[in-house]
Amino acid sequence: MQGERDLIIKDNYEIKNHTTYKIGGIVKKVYFPETQAEFSNLLRTLDDYIVLGSCSNILFSSNGYDGNIILTTELKNFEIKGTKIFALCGVKGPMLAQKAADSSLSGFEFMIGFPGSIGGNIAMNAGAHGQSISDNITNCCLFDKKSKEIIYKTKSEMDFSYRHSILQDGQYVLLHAEFDLKKSNKDSVQELISRNLDFRKNIQPSLKYPNAGSVFKNPENDSAGRLLDKAGVKDFDMQNVKVWENHANFIINKGNATSEDVLELMLKMYNAVKNKFTIELYPEIIFIGNKTKKEEEIWNILYKTKTQK
Ligand SMILES: Cc1cc2nc3c(=O)[nH]c(=O)nc-3n(C[C@H](O)[C@H](O)[C@H](O)COP(=O)(O)OP(=O)(O)OC[C@H]3O[C@@H](n4cnc5c(N)ncnc54)[C@H](O)[C@@H]3O)c2cc1C
Repeated sequence: MQGERDLIIKDNYEIKNHTTYKIGGIVKKVYFPETQAEFSNLLRTLDDYIVLGSCSNILFSSNGYDGNIILTTELKNFEIKGTKIFALCGVKGPMLAQKAADSSLSGFEFMIGFPGSIGGNIAMNAGAHGQSISDNITNCCLFDKKSKEIIYKTKSEMDFSYRHSILQDGQYVLLHAEFDLKKSNKDSVQELISRNLDFRKNIQPSLKYPNAGSVFKNPENDSAGRLLDKAGVKDFDMQNVKVWENHANFIINKGNATSEDVLELMLKMYNAVKNKFTIELYPEIIFIGNKTKKEEEIWNILYKTKTQK
């Protein structure tokens, strides 16, 4: 029963090891709800907070954050019934992709190769290999920050587009989602999973080399990776960060990088493409936390336009 357990709260907590970049300073308060009821009660109580999942699309400030962060990593329940899947927002994408495959269900094969949670994947409308998380959604259960009520939205009400959903507008938090996948042949689902994993071995750095996936979004009808490559950024190698040699849209933390190091390299990459092609790339990774003066300056250049969703 809710109320019998204590909500996990950490004060002055270093967040770095929760992020795939392995970057991030001290956060004033971090909450780890374990059930949907605990999560929604917390959302009702707090005035100001940021909800994060696996922190695999985040550049967290090395100077930390003077506020509340809710990490959904303990919200792990899911259920598969026939072709229907129910998942709390903290469920890990790769694990759910494998469980769906074990049940001969097709539609989640793309999620096998990157570490997003269901909440983060829906917020970002994550996708790969021609599939995306929005393809098979039937219903999203959301907390509405304005009314403090729990509401439901159908797929069409979630305003999905390339790397965008209604969750990015700030009014809603995803509590859980429901999907309807396609019944398929177990071997063919497993084969697609293996193919996706093989493909990724070559085009994406493993998490042994801390990174947060694609740094910039693809501009319309083009590929950020292609433009960055042609602009020569694969040679960009700084003291603590570098562009990955096999794909120009990934930044690797060489070990001791700060958020400022990453932003500096992002600016160099952005300028290289802008100077060569007069195209201004827009970041896919999201910056969170307190900014230094230099970070504020770079942030104002990189994130200044909201026209590219
Ligand atoms: C090696 C690697 C490969 C990657 N490959 C891909 C790829 O192929 N395709 C792709 O799309 N992405 C890829 N990514 C990026 C990343 O994994 C995705 O963007 C993923 O969807 C982020 O999920 P997350 O749980 O880590 O979200 P986080 O990084 O924790 O958060 C991302 C955003 O989602 C919001 N959010 C998280 N949970 C909730 C919630 N419950 N309710 C409301 N908002 C929420 C956060 O506030 C934040 O704005 C890759 C990343 C890595 C490290």
